[in-house]
Amino acid sequence: MSQHTDVLEMARRQLAVAAEYLELDAGLHEVLSRPQRALIVRFPVVLDSGEVQVFEGYRVQHNSARGPTKGGIRFHPDVDLDETSALAMWMTWKCAVANIPYGGAKGSVRVDTKQLSKRELEKLTRRYITEINVMVGERSDIPAPDIGTNAQVMAWIMDTLSMQAGYTMPGVVTGKPIELGGSEGRVEATGRGVVVTAQEAAKTLGISLTGAKVIVQGFGNVGATAAKIIEEEGATVVGISDAIGGIYNPNGLPVRELFTRYAGREGGIREYKDAEQVTNEQLLELPCDVLIPAAIAAQITSENADKIKAKLIVEGANGPCTPDADNILSDKGVFVVPDILANAGGVVVSYFEWVQDLQNFFWEENEVNNRLERIMRNSYAAVEATMRSHKTDMRTAALIIGVKRVADATIRRGIFP
Ligand code: GLU
Repeated sequence: MSQHTDVLEMARRQLAVAAEYLELDAGLHEVLSRPQRALIVRFPVVLDSGEVQVFEGYRVQHNSARGPTKGGIRFHPDVDLDETSALAMWMTWKCAVANIPYGGAKGSVRVDTKQLSKRELEKLTRRYITEINVMVGERSDIPAPDIGTNAQVMAWIMDTLSMQAGYTMPGVVTGKPIELGGSEGRVEATGRGVVVTAQEAAKTLGISLTGAKVIVQGFGNVGATAAKIIEEEGATVVGISDAIGGIYNPNGLPVRELFTRYAGREGGIREYKDAEQVTNEQLLELPCDVLIPAAIAAQITSENADKIKAKLIVEGANGPCTPDADNILSDKGVFVVPDILANAGGVVVSYFEWVQDLQNFFWEENEVNNRLERIMRNSYAAVEATMRSHKTDMRTAALIIGVKRVADATIRRGIFP
């Protein structure tokens, strides 16, 4: 079984647990355990050398019962249809937990963007989005950034789809640059939401984030922003890693300096010398109060879960803890704020961006951040209440809420024809 079949298996196991609590109808469970629609595309790109390379990509719509489907596009060498399907399913639950009117989707291209020039990346993006154009649309399926993509990639997507439509269509994609209809606060939104849920979880646990020691795995958009904001809130970031490896200093790391001077360098943040060098695996097991895995899936597994020292894990990434790890962590008394709650801030501000684009009326950053905070705190409170009433953990509680909202919408709509 491939690693990615495992990720899909993980998502299905999580759904099965919620289905049991909800006594979900078997037919409905079957519908929700697979994507509604999936597309595989293969397309050529002419490289700068004149050579032609063929790439494989996917777009998966998991469920559209609650609205148009929504979810990012990932450019990464390891993606496949199963992983993209798992990520699309998580988007469905995430949008339902945040109670925003979307279903879930995800797209991906199997590519190592480090091997491409900017011009090649642009050509790949424009061709991929053209190949999946049969699925996307401002009222049907709205992409956004994910691992390996950013605001510039979203700008190329908006331009390509607008050229093909014959008019400028900003609402077809979110996470765009501000000057093209992007939203204030979108870049920081996921990391900001991670910190809001960390604050709420600290209250649940009766601990303080001020002075708490925090470790962040991943220094992409989510990890770097969460590290910066949690430091502003008075915590001490003692460990951080990027794709190359990690650094640790029990007295604290200068997050802003790492971001402005070391991120994006050849050697990554490891070029910062006033810290011990550790591997990504070692980083997770170091002493801290709060651990924020903000890299890729399946990082905390049955292999290392019993070595985790943190009291609180806040999942910035999608799927960083496997179901086996969840069981071990729960036995150890580690409190986990699950991905579909903790990292929902990104898609929440994507929703705000889409609403602003459709209305051609733009909000100030304060308004975006205040509304984001309100949704994150309300969602956390609802999940915590369900955790208590069902005597379960936060992941199962979040799934119970998400799956129930999707199931209710499906039952209300009925089966066509
Ligand atoms: N890729 C992000 C996620 O996994 C954001 C999706 C969006 O904004 O649509 O939640």
